[in-house]
Amino acid sequence: MQGFFENEIDNELRRQMLAYGERHDLQTGLLNYAAFQDALAAWMRNGAPGREIALVWIEVLNLRREFALWGSRGADALIARVAEALRAAVDPGALIGRYSARCFLVALEAEHFDSKERRRIQAIVDVLSPMRVLGTRSMIEVAAGVAFCPSDTTSAEDLVRFSSLAASRAAYVRSSTVLAFRSGMNNTLMRDHQLETEMLRGMAQKQFRIVYQPNVEAASGKILGAEALIRWNHLDWGAVTPSEFIPIAERSDLIQLILEFTMSTALKDARQWAEAGTPLPLLAVNVSWANMRRNDFIRSIRTLLEENPLDGTQIEIEVTESVLFDDEELFAARIRQLKAMGISIAIDDFGTRYTGFNVLKRLPLDAMKIDRCFIHGVHRTQEALSLCQTIVAMARQLKLRTIAEGVEQRAELDAVREIGCDALQGFLVHAPMASTRMADFLKEWPESARRAELFGGSHAKASRVVTMPARA
Ligand code: C2E
Ligand code: MG
Ligand code: MG
Repeated sequence: MQGFFENEIDNELRRQMLAYGERHDLQTGLLNYAAFQDALAAWMRNGAPGREIALVWIEVLNLRREFALWGSRGADALIARVAEALRAAVDPGALIGRYSARCFLVALEAEHFDSKERRRIQAIVDVLSPMRVLGTRSMIEVAAGVAFCPSDTTSAEDLVRFSSLAASRAAYVRSSTVLAFRSGMNNTLMRDHQLETEMLRGMAQKQFRIVYQPNVEAASGKILGAEALIRWNHLDWGAVTPSEFIPIAERSDLIQLILEFTMSTALKDARQWAEAGTPLPLLAVNVSWANMRRNDFIRSIRTLLEENPLDGTQIEIEVTESVLFDDEELFAARIRQLKAMGISIAIDDFGTRYTGFNVLKRLPLDAMKIDRCFIHGVHRTQEALSLCQTIVAMARQLKLRTIAEGVEQRAELDAVREIGCDALQGFLVHAPMASTRMADFLKEWPESARRAELFGGSHAKASRVVTMPARA
């Protein structure tokens, strides 16, 4: 039989354990959200006047993947490591809490969060870089945001909400830096969500269309091809630019719908131009990396070509330089499959990221489009001119055709020729246009006065062109 004191101890222990359980996350021992918020509110009420509070929201991005790979043991180990690292990284006076399965909160106090104090916040997040979980090297991927009291808000609830908005933004832009909350973030996130919904509706309501911009031989003005560019005219908002909606579409299956729409429309239009007796030599289509990395990418290109037959050799796929940094091996595999269908590959917006010669050399590419930021005003400085010359020299070495993007002025055209670019595209020749207008352009351009004015008669300088042999 238990004695009186033993019973008392038992009860006391049970009471304390229950109380602990009410205030703590039992998996990590950190404060649970309710307790964290109480403590934060108390800080905000009772803190020394003039002191500031920083609330950091840390979201573990790869928890689901760890769970898929290793099951709950892997996910639990990951969370335990994060909690442990956070505890070790912050001062004993700070508050650490768990908001949800994958979100942690850290509150810090300081006289003023100047740049030194902000570096301290970054350092807390930096300790979460690669660490071993279950004996394997697991990257802990996090996104973090921070909001400050009183400069952002004096409400504990808003402080948490604002830091979470900043973290969502950091996750969205894949930033490894802790992003500070800005008042515009609220609107940005809501607009992103709204854009997704509106895009789906816009697809169903045929608000999207394709326009074409020709590219011509630099020496002679001969039409070499045209690039298909998507346009969205929203009923209330008017024109929404691709640079605004493509990045949002890339986060979901919407990007697949865009690929299917762009390709099938462009292939149909190309067939009509051919039937009218003015075939387009090469149809260029922009494809996102979000499309290419999908397992069904090659299959869907095949299906599109079966439904809208066009010889693969009449198609060029444009991909931006950034794909080379994402997964070179997968990219190389995809382009080999495309090339087996006869399709050629151009690197778009070249120069916006630095891709070394060695990377480019390994890939069977066909063309390089020099970003318009280099072409704009290229004639004005020797520096810009020599940079373009170097890019062209590099392309030559790699046996790639070069296309200058965004040529707007006569002086830029002259410079582009001087540099030795093979082709050019830009408002000077023509802005992107609807398919019917493109049909007229294909008929009229060869003998037009405009071509004669810019390129000095139909075949004036054709002999200067260096045609690059196609690479195997
Ligand atoms: P991009 O592929 O580099 O396309 C060229 C962009 O430059 C187009 O902008 C075009 O309208 C613009 N442009 C052409 N000539 C000139 C010029 O002389 N001066 C200036 N300032 N701009 C010129 P746009 O149509 O707004 O497209 C922006 C980007 O969106 C494209 O860049 C491409 O990366 C992407 N995009 C467009 N359509 C599609 C699509 O169907 N699918 C995918 N995945 N991306 C697309
Ligand atoms: Mg392009
Ligand atoms: Mg481009």
